Amino acid sequence: MLFAVAVLVPTPKTRPRVVYGGAGEPSSPVGRKGSRRLLSSLPASELSDLLVRSGGSSSQAQATSAKIVRYVFGSATSSGAMEPVWDEAALHAIGVGAWAFEALLALSPTVSLAIAERAPAQDGAERLLLRAMDGALIETVILPAAGRTTVCLSSQVGCARACTFCETGSLGLTRQLDAGEIVDQVRIARALWGNKSPAIMNVVFMGMGEPFDNLREVARATHVLTDDRGLKFSPSRVTVSTVGVADKIETFYATCRAELAVSLNSIDDEARTRIMPINARFNLGVLRAALERSVPKSHKVLFEYVLIADFNDSLGHADRLASWVSTIPCRVNVIPLNPGPDPSLRSPSPEAVSAFVARLSQHGVTTLVRRPRGREVGGACGQLAGARRNTWPS
Ligand code: SAH
Repeated sequence: MLFAVAVLVPTPKTRPRVVYGGAGEPSSPVGRKGSRRLLSSLPASELSDLLVRSGGSSSQAQATSAKIVRYVFGSATSSGAMEPVWDEAALHAIGVGAWAFEALLALSPTVSLAIAERAPAQDGAERLLLRAMDGALIETVILPAAGRTTVCLSSQVGCARACTFCETGSLGLTRQLDAGEIVDQVRIARALWGNKSPAIMNVVFMGMGEPFDNLREVARATHVLTDDRGLKFSPSRVTVSTVGVADKIETFYATCRAELAVSLNSIDDEARTRIMPINARFNLGVLRAALERSVPKSHKVLFEYVLIADFNDSLGHADRLASWVSTIPCRVNVIPLNPGPDPSLRSPSPEAVSAFVARLSQHGVTTLVRRPRGREVGGACGQLAGARRNTWPS
């Protein structure tokens, strides 16, 4: 089935312009079971295309899609955006012509996920268990910090990539999330967060799933999230994290309005393959070559490095890591291992973390430590378990 056709106009080392073509069938069960297609899955350009096919001129369609984006997502800091009134009178009131009513009313403007559980942690983080329309369970985490609040999004139900230290990786993949289900995690987080400060300004695709295995929907979600008439995220504050699916890095930069994070975790091929099966397909050399080729000049990569005691946390490891990343404009996020499914992997001592970070900094690498947030409610990196959580003894 033909889907959104992204026409790329590439310029080497700069971000190609993307023009979305016709909208087609969504890829997840959301729209297939006779339920209405989610409005939140459509970037404004696709909404315009749909309106052109419904009889509007190109300029009418663009103006109407702008009105809809403003109406449905524009007041998203209040819960008003969760259930917008969606009938002919409401559309007429915002200046939509009758010609567009049928196409628009065939879409669903309401949030597609229900809150199944809220798990607030002592440190202010909150893990949300969300239920999709088909019953699938995913998790989203709200992470307040000084100056900004971040929402950590899931891109899939489960994950096929099977990293041994990650709870989600042990679930296997159930299905892809539709772009609307990704965007709706943000709408829910914003509604729950309300007008509290600091506002939700950052989005990271670091929850359940491998975003590059669902790149088309992730790309569309980034377009909806960064529409400055709607949810208004700056593309520089949207980060998509991958295990390192090297052959999709170029497509990522061509289609997503976001920055890239790569989970490196080891710069030794044998060790990395042991904890991240992806490395058998795209080893470190292939990954680095793809990054050197594809990262546009004005962009930096965020490398994530999960620090594991007596595995990858020595000063020698820090030296080799600094050398490995030296050809790519980047920052490094050191993440002390959170307890996960593999009991043989242990968290490093605070001293080992400090020494590792100090060594990287000595090499001139911009390094940050990602302190565990929401650990006691299972909301920290690598702890998101979705449906499995229901089967654990409390
Ligand atoms: N699949 C994507 C995004 C989800 S994981 C990816 O792998 O990048 C987001 C981050 O959490 C990754 O950097 C991953 O390496 C890290 N992570 C996974 N399990 C972890 C754990 N047990 N402790 C600390 N970080 C973990």
